[in-house]
Amino acid sequence: MYQLGTKWTLWNLPAFLQDDVESITLRGYSTEPEEVLDRLRLSADLYAASLDDKGNFRGLSVEAITSRYCPNRRDLYLEKKRGLRGGKGYTTWGRVAGHLIEKYCKGLLKHFEELAHRPEGLDYQRIQTLAQEYSQTFWDTGSHKKKLKELQETACIPEETPERLVFLLQQTAKYELTMLGIDYTFSQNRNGEFVPLMQRIPVRFDEEAVRISPGTNLGLSKTTTPDFIILDEPAVVMGDIKTGIRFEQFHLHTIAGYALAYESQHKKDVNFGIVYFFETHTTQMGFAQSHIFVIDDFLRRKFLDMRDEAYRILQKAEPPSLVDNCDKHCKHHTDCYPDIND
Ligand code: SF4
Repeated sequence: MYQLGTKWTLWNLPAFLQDDVESITLRGYSTEPEEVLDRLRLSADLYAASLDDKGNFRGLSVEAITSRYCPNRRDLYLEKKRGLRGGKGYTTWGRVAGHLIEKYCKGLLKHFEELAHRPEGLDYQRIQTLAQEYSQTFWDTGSHKKKLKELQETACIPEETPERLVFLLQQTAKYELTMLGIDYTFSQNRNGEFVPLMQRIPVRFDEEAVRISPGTNLGLSKTTTPDFIILDEPAVVMGDIKTGIRFEQFHLHTIAGYALAYESQHKKDVNFGIVYFFETHTTQMGFAQSHIFVIDDFLRRKFLDMRDEAYRILQKAEPPSLVDNCDKHCKHHTDCYPDIND
């Protein structure tokens, strides 16, 4: 996460990407022109088909709309239309690893809060020691130890051994601390006072600050929650922590959904997004990276298309077809292949 501070300093985003920001027309709060309104609104037939017996709208969250675990979206249908929550196989390596990675990366900020105020002397040796100490403390926690055991049990390939994930996360801790040191050095070179990340950029992770209540125009659920938001100064920025085999386009579409939702509630522009991505199966030295981008009309349109597609799937009488070569760890494997799982 400390890398955000350094990158922010280097990029000066609002100035650098001003033209791209000015060309955004699809704002969550837009009330004109009519074609923009039409594009933002969930169509009347899809809205009507999503009312329950009592006439309440059953909205989908941004996360539910953009989740691509099942390529055919059969999982969405089974959960939202048939009420199946999934069962056997629910504890997958990816889910356990994703949970641990998120906790580890967020924990870095908290653990080094004091250091972030006075990072002088953050040399190579000190970074090695601090990263090792943090990792040790993290993995010694009872609940994390239990998760490591689950990782061991669900690992299918050599890249999924717990030791490897522990090693990769430790590289991330080292990288983040290095970035904190670089950020500090930049400030000294400019003869400026060093202001640590959380003071300079108000990153918020707490549930209350990040919870969004979208306007009804977007046809979403009552609340939707990104992993973090940078609030107000220098700009409102939507952030999500993602893990997986590779960086995917839909990670960007998820952020576009959050931006539209935030704009519809607060009537404030959200121009930039950040995906803090941790590649789990990399064969090279890896650490979490932050992708910073403009949430342009292309991404916004993509999200709105995905929203419409999700509601359309739920209108059908039958679920989408089965996927070839399904991952047997999919939480709906028992629902989709009851004979094999008997
Ligand atoms: S088991 Fe296969 S078809 Fe069924 S939800 Fe999972 S990925 Fe989709």
